[in-house]
Amino acid sequence: MFDNQQLINDDKEAVWHPYSSTNNPIDNYPVVSADGVRLTLADGRQLIDGMSSWWSTIHGYNHPVLNEAAQQQLSKMSHVMFGGLTHPQAITLCKTLVKITPANLDKVFLADSGSVAVEVAMKMALQYWLSQGINTKTKLLSLRNGYHGDTFGAMSVCDPVTGMHHLFEKSMPQHLFSEAPPMGFDRHFTEADIADFTHQLQQHHSTIAAVILEPIVQGAGGMRFYSPQYLARIRALCDEFNVLLIADEIATGFGRTGKLFACEHANISPDILCLGKAITGGYMTLAATLCSNRVAEGICSGEAGVLMHGPTFMGNPLACAIANASIDLLLDSPWQQTVANIEQQLLSALHPALAYDNVEDVRVLGAIGVIEMKHAVNMADITPKFVEAGIWVRPFGKLVYIMPPFIISDDDLHYLCSTLLSIIE
Ligand code: PMP
Repeated sequence: MFDNQQLINDDKEAVWHPYSSTNNPIDNYPVVSADGVRLTLADGRQLIDGMSSWWSTIHGYNHPVLNEAAQQQLSKMSHVMFGGLTHPQAITLCKTLVKITPANLDKVFLADSGSVAVEVAMKMALQYWLSQGINTKTKLLSLRNGYHGDTFGAMSVCDPVTGMHHLFEKSMPQHLFSEAPPMGFDRHFTEADIADFTHQLQQHHSTIAAVILEPIVQGAGGMRFYSPQYLARIRALCDEFNVLLIADEIATGFGRTGKLFACEHANISPDILCLGKAITGGYMTLAATLCSNRVAEGICSGEAGVLMHGPTFMGNPLACAIANASIDLLLDSPWQQTVANIEQQLLSALHPALAYDNVEDVRVLGAIGVIEMKHAVNMADITPKFVEAGIWVRPFGKLVYIMPPFIISDDDLHYLCSTLLSIIE
């Protein structure tokens, strides 16, 4: 048996958690196992997971199919270097990704985390123009409220204000930002919505290698949903001004918004696409950057002749095997109906929160439900209440949001939402 208090104390002594202080460490809840949508804590309590471990565990935990895929692959080969060698699991995965992602994404570069997939995407874009002999296109244009990861390149295209990285501003490459898209998936789009973006492209296109954005849902920068028409217009403007488009679908990919990829809401293809998180059903750390033949051939016909990147754990076979099983599991399931059903339930269950004095907005898209409070939530205060009631939800700032595993039952989803509402009320 685990000694819950000992784990908490030992954790504080040696472990540094995300965005946390070691001078003033908080109690983190030790989880000792997880099954389906339930996390089991070391003290025996169970929590319904409202977070899918940050968008990733779409099939829930301890899934027999994913376990089997992992075990099979473990007995064959858990890792092998990817330079000069290849393996069936990576080949299958890359072919599948090319097939299921929007058109014109033909080549896949595998990486080990979302942030690195973004770094690779940025390098691809920069190297593409250099290879064409154009050395002025060295900037990226990104949207305010965007979030793309915590490594230096990725940080440099996050919103400097909401992106949590302003401390490093002086050490980061300087890129360009345009106004955030106006909120509302169903918003009636007008050209005024995109005036600032258009202006930036008109002014700076000769220095811009690529636009980078999160299609339809801006996640960590505010859980903001925006119109597919806005995204479609950006695609058209990128073509008009000869700028590449990078879509960061690390959070939105694999069904979360109701489409397999959020770009499909706008019927567009980016030139470069970043995937991560749910790619392995949250079992292993793996990410991918896809690009068009135009981009790949452009890069490789340049002076360097190769893409300058190669992480040690690139194409890890265990991660690829689980990704293959996870994607098959998703595509063989009626996932569209499942996500549509979750969307309906979230809409009706969360809507009453709009009447609360402390709630500013409620919004739902696919299997994502967001309650925006009028004031920032006190995490130290609210988290124990969630845990006490048997749910796992992790707010940030004014946002209390859930994106449960797709396998959640109606009853568990109902419990999750009603408990959440009673606590925030
Ligand atoms: N892009 C987006 C849109 C994300 O949501 C995240 C993770 N929150 C990242 C990039 C970075 O991914 P990772 O944390 O795996 O590095």
